[in-house]
Amino acid sequence: MTESHHFRVLEFYSGIGGMHYAFDESGHQGKILRAFDINTTANEVYAHNHGKKHLAQRNIEAVPMEYYDEQQADVWLMSPPCQPYTRTGNKAGSKDARAKSFLYLMDILPKMTHPPNYILLENVKGFEESDSRDFLVEALMGAGYEFQELLITPLQLGIPNSRMRYYCLARKTDNKPDEDAILSDPMLALKVEKLDKYIEFKDVADERMQRYMIPDKTLIKYGALFDIVKESTRRSCCFTKGYYHYVESTGSILQMAHEKDVRYGTEAPNADEYNAKALALLRTLGLRYFTENEVARLMGFPVLEGKFSFPEKTSLKQRYRVLGNSINVKVVSHLIRYLLTSKTENISEKKAEKEAGKDPEVRSESS
Ligand code: SAH
Repeated sequence: MTESHHFRVLEFYSGIGGMHYAFDESGHQGKILRAFDINTTANEVYAHNHGKKHLAQRNIEAVPMEYYDEQQADVWLMSPPCQPYTRTGNKAGSKDARAKSFLYLMDILPKMTHPPNYILLENVKGFEESDSRDFLVEALMGAGYEFQELLITPLQLGIPNSRMRYYCLARKTDNKPDEDAILSDPMLALKVEKLDKYIEFKDVADERMQRYMIPDKTLIKYGALFDIVKESTRRSCCFTKGYYHYVESTGSILQMAHEKDVRYGTEAPNADEYNAKALALLRTLGLRYFTENEVARLMGFPVLEGKFSFPEKTSLKQRYRVLGNSINVKVVSHLIRYLLTSKTENISEKKAEKEAGKDPEVRSESS
């Protein structure tokens, strides 16, 4: 990556800017020309960290093709709404109204004068089985792209958090990938870290505990459903947007007390006593939600570096919600690095060829 091409990037469905961070971390030069999203809370978070200048609070399907064309972007990064493809959603795929803007983009892609050279799309596992994926493939083939599809979880990068996602990397076929440019780190060989380095506070007496503690009511009702992890654990569940709001399968919770096993005493004469016993036991575990910063860090956001934070006005519930919608920055930055590498190599190759053709001195030097 010696050649530094300045990529012109459009960020669709930008949310809190996961793709922006991923691009920054990919090591490629360039700038986000425009970030499109209609959600005001997410946009506030985005603006808080990157300023308002490039933020377009617009409905993607209401923007005319000419506008996208005028941007002359080389790269489109996009994570369209996933609800049409999730298990908990309706699985209606393209019939879901929330898929409409994506279908619009796929419709205009083959018609554009300046289509991007690269497209990276992220979505939930399940997208690959949907009819939207068929539209994607059709548009890509029609517009002269080659592409590859992957299902990747952050665990494969050694990050102790589940978030299995679908990725599609597409290149215009005049930018052939270079086999040597394929990521040199053998991702799968990396070991998964322990959670401890992601944890903000580890003491039950910490004043922040008030904010993240799990209420007794929730403990009694859902105690048995919790996915409880400790700082020594090497995994955590995918944090979805219902985290902190709904308990079941929305993300792990942290046990701060050490060396305790989570097990209910089953001998109790009646339900009340059973509950009382269970509650007493659960209370000793020092259970709490992961803080929004811990979740953000597990998702690869540069919190410690001071580059990502939330505006004060964003409520805790909103913070979890927009994080739940976002992406794993580390995973996507690797993908961007990989996707764009072929272009930079090709540019230098082409340049070298051109120069060699034009200037015989250069040719004799290089051979
Ligand atoms: N990658 C993002 C999250 C994407 S979630 C991140 O890092 O946070 C999908 C986003 O698409 C949501 O923020 C939602 O507000 C936005 N969205 C959905 N339909 C849209 C449309 N028609 N126009 C613009 N934004 C839309």
